Amino acid sequence: HNISQISKSPYLNQSTATPAELRSAFHLQGLSPAKVESFETQKKRALAQLRSKSSDIEKYVFLAWLRNTNVRLFYGLIGDQLEETLPLIYTPTVGTACQNYSSIYPFLAPPGQPDGLFLSINDLPNLTQIIQNYRPYPQDPSLTPQIAVITDGSRILGLGDLGVGGMGIPVGKLQLYVAGAGVDPRRTIPITLDLGTNNETKLNDEFYLGLRQKRVGDDKFFPFVDAVIQALTSLYPKMLIQFEDFSSEHAFQLLDKYQPTNFCFNDDIQGTGAVILAGFMNAINLAGIPAKEHKILFFGAGSAAVGVAKQLAAYFVNDHGMTEDEAREMVWLVDSKGLVTLDRGDKLAEHKLYFARKDNNGARFPDITSVIEYVRPTALFGLSSQSGAFSEDVLRSMATLNERPIVFPLSNPAYQAECSFEQAMVHTKGKVIFASGTAFPKYTDPATGVVSAPGQGNNMYIFPGLGLGGILAQPATISDRLIYSAARACANALTPEERAQGLLYPVLPRIREVSAEVAAAVMAESVAEGSATNQEAIQLVQNSDKKALHHFVTKNMWTTDGVEEEITTFASHL
Ligand code: NAP
Ligand code: MN
Repeated sequence: HNISQISKSPYLNQSTATPAELRSAFHLQGLSPAKVESFETQKKRALAQLRSKSSDIEKYVFLAWLRNTNVRLFYGLIGDQLEETLPLIYTPTVGTACQNYSSIYPFLAPPGQPDGLFLSINDLPNLTQIIQNYRPYPQDPSLTPQIAVITDGSRILGLGDLGVGGMGIPVGKLQLYVAGAGVDPRRTIPITLDLGTNNETKLNDEFYLGLRQKRVGDDKFFPFVDAVIQALTSLYPKMLIQFEDFSSEHAFQLLDKYQPTNFCFNDDIQGTGAVILAGFMNAINLAGIPAKEHKILFFGAGSAAVGVAKQLAAYFVNDHGMTEDEAREMVWLVDSKGLVTLDRGDKLAEHKLYFARKDNNGARFPDITSVIEYVRPTALFGLSSQSGAFSEDVLRSMATLNERPIVFPLSNPAYQAECSFEQAMVHTKGKVIFASGTAFPKYTDPATGVVSAPGQGNNMYIFPGLGLGGILAQPATISDRLIYSAARACANALTPEERAQGLLYPVLPRIREVSAEVAAAVMAESVAEGSATNQEAIQLVQNSDKKALHHFVTKNMWTTDGVEEEITTFASHL
């Protein structure tokens, strides 16, 4: 241990804000100009630099470098400028970053500073040791990781197999845990599994940094994931594991396997399900027809669509007294071959069976137009990555069928969305109840000048709060009930003003408040179902003092304050 660990630590260094005493104590005089700046000035300069970059990918690289060299300045900037920086550190820019990851990788962090933890299939014999190599900051060893986000890069956003380039996703998601719910950045691990890639472009790219081989088969995939999960849980038994952007088939299989026994969830399936359910709960209030009269059409039948459909079905059972069969029959799925029916003649993927229709009397509906005519949906969800699929005709039919059609084109990034907010407003004559996956600009009605804001069904409204609630309550597993409570809390988090504006989701700058509500609800549900093990949390919930519970959550949120004390504490251990 050496005092220079402090000045070199991306977590502890204050860069140009290092006070004179510390410059002297750490022998830093002369190594930077004399000026001792305030945090505010540092943030202001960083923002000016960020804005001076001409492309979004340059902005991404700049922000990654900042995160990997000065954690507080990075999160200070993100916290102040959430709406401007979120599209850079997450979708859509993170998609471009993943596609170009091998080209930008050496410029994201100084040598020796990891951007995340890479575990390749060749590491199988040494997983436990390699996982412990991931120590991005010198720190108190009691600060063990609380959350890992793990991908195998096989289905990144709607962009397909990007191999190790997938690392942008766990890194990005964990940034949102910090910014959105105040998880301590030192207690997170982004993990990318390298099992090869089936992306020919990557395999032929001289700069590609992953294993240059085709993906291994299931006979190797499942044992490897198992070994990773085993190693992680034996090292960090209280750590929450979030699965992210695995190919759909694997995503469901992993969730089925690990949900009953491990402290984990899948954000593509459960996080998406919960956030869209939250928006839907608010949307059906606006639509003004009884829940039982809804008919919900999913365009796309992958992990996201089926995850959402299952959450909606659970909602109809829980909140509207339907039987499981009645709830299931509210849903129709469309995939690349048309309406998903049991008698279609092809072998349906396992995850499509539950909602496959059997009431079609042998009829086939090969495209969205014929399906809409047949189903007459009240709500249309797009989770297909098929840009433009919600055409003018589709939108017009939805507006003809419904007073207030619910249309959620949820595919990411924006250019893959099934329609834009403007298209939805124009072609439904402003009747649409809308939420998208990526943020769309506001729409101004050219005739009246009325400005409408689109809803964004951003998973960020759920997973950071769900994760924080999980960390604080410490259940052994994340049950469907906990996921459901997160959705309910998100839906209820709208302020009266937000409701009056017809919004489906709270505004983004309130994300930490929303996450606190979600976390508190998850803790309460965890105590109610008897899974919580953290005594302090159990006590607080059982006292039914909402304020005290809320206070407990917010006091456990990490902020950019307090570096002086942390430096002192760290120095005292030297
Ligand atoms: P996925 O597993 O690849 O599923 C895509 C689905 O779309 C498949 O069922 C596919 O059909 C179907 N599809 C493809 N082309 C089609 C066509 N021409 N017509 C009808 N269906 C077609 O992907 P995923 O994980 O479910 O994600 C889907 C999209 O949702 C992505 O764009 C992702 O970014 C987005 N998403 C959004 C959110 C959010 O907004 N909060 C969260 C998660 C995911 P086959 O099954 O026949 O191949
Ligand atoms: Mn995802």
